[in-house]
Amino acid sequence: MKILIAQDQNGCKDDSLSQYLESEGHICIHVQHPSAVLDAIYRENPDIAVLCTRLQQPGCHYLLKKIKAAPSTRDIPVFYLAPRNARSHLRRGYAGGMYDYISMPWFPEEVSARLQNIRQVCDRVRELEGLLVRDYLTGSYNRKFFMERFQEESSWAHRYGEPISIVMIDIDYFKKINDTYGHCTGDHVLQQVCELITARLRANDILARFGGEEFIILMSNTDAGVAYAAAESLRQAVAGNGFYSDDRLRFSVTISAGVATFHGEPEVTVDDILGRADAALYRAKEQGRNVVVIAD
Ligand code: GH3
Ligand code: MG
Ligand code: MG
Repeated sequence: MKILIAQDQNGCKDDSLSQYLESEGHICIHVQHPSAVLDAIYRENPDIAVLCTRLQQPGCHYLLKKIKAAPSTRDIPVFYLAPRNARSHLRRGYAGGMYDYISMPWFPEEVSARLQNIRQVCDRVRELEGLLVRDYLTGSYNRKFFMERFQEESSWAHRYGEPISIVMIDIDYFKKINDTYGHCTGDHVLQQVCELITARLRANDILARFGGEEFIILMSNTDAGVAYAAAESLRQAVAGNGFYSDDRLRFSVTISAGVATFHGEPEVTVDDILGRADAALYRAKEQGRNVVVIAD
């Protein structure tokens, strides 16, 4: 694992720990001064941060607060190697988000074993958190996660006037697919459509399963023209793909899509945008399906 080790002269400078960790195959990143820790954490994104510093120093709590406040660093566990006399400050350290500590004298073998344990627990938590935001069948994000991100992105768009586009997608005549080839094949179609879409999205696009055979894509900083082109390429990809039933019968599937774009207008809510995308999707269905429609 990648371990950031921050030491300061007044703390407990000792190279034996990093030598030991490196001998076990870990990558150690050294930071000599607390003021450089945040930069190093952003830059290196370590699995764990080990701070060898005096807990009673004000800078120490400030640093912890900063690490725990930023969304991109708050999940990095922070471990302290603290001098003996730091015990009275532990409560504040734990309250501030410190994961754990060892006070002097410590042994590299013990520190290493405890870091490994922390890593395992954190990996497990991350895995469980991942499951909470995903749809079980398709692996795309779930509606709850989508709505949270949509709210967040729309506040951003309100503030900076950047466009956001939403593409609402519905599989055409999906009930018929279930009725003809069975529910199991229907499930495979949902998974495959999701894979076809995922393969064509940009890294920042967020795909979620919105309902049964309905998907939604959040495209931040994207205007209507770009979103329409993306939706159109998804429509073509699905229409051009061969799907197979469990008894190897080939069939085709189409999708319809509605695109709505928001330019940060203060009076427009997230529900308004969803409603417009839904209305555009409804028109796509009315036009005969297998088509993309942009909202008025
Ligand atoms: P339209 O073109 O108007 O969208 O017609 P449709 O048949 O796709 O739409 P309808 O709403 O009539 O049917 C959707 C079907 O999707 C009904 C439901 O049983 C099925 N469905 C919803 N969730 C799942 C799922 O997880 N797996 C499978 N296999 N089917 C599902
Ligand atoms: Mg539907
Ligand atoms: Mg449908």
